Amino acid sequence: MAKGTINVSVENIFPLIKKFLYSDHEIFLRELVSNATDATLKLKHLTNIGEAKTEYGNPVIEIKIDEKNKTLHIIDQGIGMTEEEVIKYINEVAFSGAEDFISKHKDAEKEGIIGHFGLGFYSSFMVADKVEIITKSYTDAPAVHWICDGSPNFELSPADKKERGTEIILHISEDSAEFLENYKIRELLLKYNRFMPIPIKFGTKEETLPLPEGADKDAKPEKITVDNIINNPNPAWTKAPSELKDEDYKSFYHELYPMQFEEPLFYIHLNVDYPFHLTGILFFPKLGNNLNLDKDKIQLYQNQVFVTDEVKGIVPDFLMLLRGVIDSPDIPLNVSRSYLQADGAVKKISSYITKKVADKMASLINENREDYEKKWNDIKIVIEYGMISEDKFYEKSDKFALYPTVDEKYYTFDEFKDKIKDNQTDKDGKLVILYASNINEQDQYIQAAKDKGYEVLLLDSPVVPHLIQKLETSKENLSFVRVDADHVNNLIKKEENTVSILSDEEKENLKKELEENIDSKTYTVVLENLSKDDFPFILTQPEFMRRMKDMQQIGGGMFGMMGNFPETYNLVVNTNSPLASEIVAKEDKEAKSKIIKQALDLAKLSQNILKGKELTDFIKRSFELIK
Ligand code: ADP
Repeated sequence: MAKGTINVSVENIFPLIKKFLYSDHEIFLRELVSNATDATLKLKHLTNIGEAKTEYGNPVIEIKIDEKNKTLHIIDQGIGMTEEEVIKYINEVAFSGAEDFISKHKDAEKEGIIGHFGLGFYSSFMVADKVEIITKSYTDAPAVHWICDGSPNFELSPADKKERGTEIILHISEDSAEFLENYKIRELLLKYNRFMPIPIKFGTKEETLPLPEGADKDAKPEKITVDNIINNPNPAWTKAPSELKDEDYKSFYHELYPMQFEEPLFYIHLNVDYPFHLTGILFFPKLGNNLNLDKDKIQLYQNQVFVTDEVKGIVPDFLMLLRGVIDSPDIPLNVSRSYLQADGAVKKISSYITKKVADKMASLINENREDYEKKWNDIKIVIEYGMISEDKFYEKSDKFALYPTVDEKYYTFDEFKDKIKDNQTDKDGKLVILYASNINEQDQYIQAAKDKGYEVLLLDSPVVPHLIQKLETSKENLSFVRVDADHVNNLIKKEENTVSILSDEEKENLKKELEENIDSKTYTVVLENLSKDDFPFILTQPEFMRRMKDMQQIGGGMFGMMGNFPETYNLVVNTNSPLASEIVAKEDKEAKSKIIKQALDLAKLSQNILKGKELTDFIKRSFELIK
């Protein structure tokens, strides 16, 4: 037996490994299974090119728990190592890798960032007091046995292992006893190795064989014991899109998120070789109203090894609502998040994904417009959020962003513009787009606008105030006006002068009477010569004030600091209505006041803002009036 000392500059590296990586102990298994996978894939390559004179066969990686001896075994049938290779790769290369890692991460610990890393083989000392390697190279070299107890000393001796490959034996330390539990190892394998490219065996399971054809109906189906393979070595994203059908994408979605019962709406297969490598599949889920951003997130893989589902910084924010997988060997995994966000490769990945999603949307709407329209309400939040937050996405969005009307017709921006430009251009040549945010509450205004032949959009997602702002600033001669922002005659100003029934003096008196009877802090009286059939009293909330309030509600930016906007309205009084003439004509002050109050309440009622005591008083008064 040979004994030796690993060449160390730090007195004892192993306590350091434990200390630095306290939060991520469990990744040792990911590292060891990755090594086993690499060793197997290397052998595959060598046999393919004729370098290895051995049968590749159907190698598996086996994970075994020996409860009695408190050991965990990771066994592969890969290339194995000769004695020289153990000395070189384990004692020197791997060790210097570990040392390097620790010196780099001294600062990281201070900042409390222990990120994802590639510590490799030595991460096993986070959970083991002693580690053994029994390995036989695919060449004819004799097998070797390496033992290290966590000090810089190791032992190396011949072993009698007959089969090719490597067995790593971890003597699990007392404070890591959880890694001897079946459920724990299973959980880790499913978390990190579910899609690794070599089959991973963990225990066995019973399988029932189908009855042979024509079997006796009382015959008992035969049960056999088979290897329990924990992973799917060929997940959908590693295949070419041309190999996959719709059902394959859907079943992969359910494989990835077993607790999701809804079907995804769309998928996007990512596949890029240059200037970086990236594959993956993104899904548009059916988003309900309660967006749960913490569940079923996008998962990041590096060569089929799970790394994290914290993809902030890699995926643009608006796409965090999507689900799926991104796999790239080019994402630096051994660094902190702030570094990740500044990393050039990561930025490129983010803008590539944005572009890819935009292109896919453009092709989806072209391929099947009807289907796209049906799904619009479920995807609009993602698209609209993307439009306001990513300029590159916004620039392409005219191709695929839809604007639905209150009658459930869907238009692209240009289609809609064409449709309304004749009737909805104001006297200054501005295109006025009318919209509603709630069909029920704004029905009266919607009907009035439709009677004028106007089209009304239904824009009801939470980011709409920002979206409108974005559209108004980037497109020329355009303004959005909510349908209840003014009397319908004023929504799109076209210089039609209706003659007034009341004289100027009568109007002045009317205004005075009105102001005496209403709360002038909340209501601003505006007299309008409308048609005599129009409502006499109408409450409107000016577009500007309402939008400011909406923005404040969504929060963010300067709006949070501006204090609360008071609720204010314009009280539009139709001077040509019979009621206005009646108010002017009435002598009795008290009767006049009663009419004004009643009319104001009716206007409030139609805005759905007559509540509580006011409503009770209104009902009382109304009954009295019809007595
Ligand atoms: P890395 O995998 O990042 O190179 P490791 O510390 O995990 O670093 O491993 C160091 C080296 O030891 C590997 O590059 C490989 O040459 C060798 N090695 C580790 N595990 C195995 C294994 N199961 N079979 C064959 N060689 C291995």
